[in-house]
Amino acid sequence: MANLKLKPGVITGDALQELFAYCKQAKCALPAVNGSNSANAALEAARQAKAPIIIQLSNTGAQFFAGKFLDNGAQQASIAGSVAGALHVRAVAGAYGVPVVLHTDHCAKKLLPWVDGVIAAGEAYFAKNGEPLFSSHMLDLSEEPLESNLEISRKYLSRIARMKMTLEIELGVTGGEEDGVDNSGVEHSKLYTSPSDVLRAYDVLHPVGHFTVAAAFGNTHGVYAPGNVKLRPGILNDSQQFVRRERKLGDKPLDFVFHGGSGSSPEEIREAVSYGVVKMNIDTDTQWAFTDPVKKYMDEKGAYLKSQLGNPEGPEKPNKKYIDPRAWLHLAEKGMAARLVEAFKDLGSYGKFDF
Ligand SMILES: [Zn+2]
Repeated sequence: MANLKLKPGVITGDALQELFAYCKQAKCALPAVNGSNSANAALEAARQAKAPIIIQLSNTGAQFFAGKFLDNGAQQASIAGSVAGALHVRAVAGAYGVPVVLHTDHCAKKLLPWVDGVIAAGEAYFAKNGEPLFSSHMLDLSEEPLESNLEISRKYLSRIARMKMTLEIELGVTGGEEDGVDNSGVEHSKLYTSPSDVLRAYDVLHPVGHFTVAAAFGNTHGVYAPGNVKLRPGILNDSQQFVRRERKLGDKPLDFVFHGGSGSSPEEIREAVSYGVVKMNIDTDTQWAFTDPVKKYMDEKGAYLKSQLGNPEGPEKPNKKYIDPRAWLHLAEKGMAARLVEAFKDLGSYGKFDF
């Protein structure tokens, strides 16, 4: 099939739905990556891969972007960091010449004031610019009973649907630990989303607006020794088939999100994508790709980093160019961009777009 044509800049509204529909048809998905201090590496990866990237801010990532110095008692740092992160991406995406989806990651019930603040800023942005600041937000109410998860999600979706935004919800629990939420002890049945829950979500949310579902199919946040929980991507297919049959819909009616993509094999990723995964969150693998070159740099250049003056070339030789944090931070960015290009290949989206 022909490549999807996109414009550089932030993808919002109907264009985002067209993008996800194309991904399902072309059996490819997009990596979603933390943008708190690595948005530029993510944009560069998109440029190299000739595909759009999803840049997302988590609650603590957004807080970090604003500065860990700030008090975050009323989520003010996370709100300010989310807005600043989004505006940064909007300001530079055109210069990179790439299309990008802007998203916020997991928001549990106790963090709702964060997303409330980001939506309020988004509404002000919308009033001025006629488009939302972010493309989509996520609410993760998977710890709540199903009906209260969907009722709160419905309320938020009806608010952001006025700006033609998309809501990502979570059904079932992603295992492992991320962003201070530890699900490593959760009972095994909850690690697999049930098709009837997905149908219920469809019935509640479809009349209100566009949504995606982070489904649990044994996926975990973080990279662990294999064998603990088994990845069962077939569960996604079961849900697609069940909702399609029950509501007499076309092929793959749902857009799925794969959380905890790090450490997954290319075969597992390909299978999940074939069942309608359009977005895969990849964090731990890119954290490693960012940190590893810094570790190597510090080891290799150790003799140049002992003091401002003096290295193996002479006792008074200046070390300024080795000390400059940009020297090693850019190596980190390059490492991360290279890992993301690999992710685009695993997800089948490398080179599948024109822009
Ligand atoms: Zn997640």
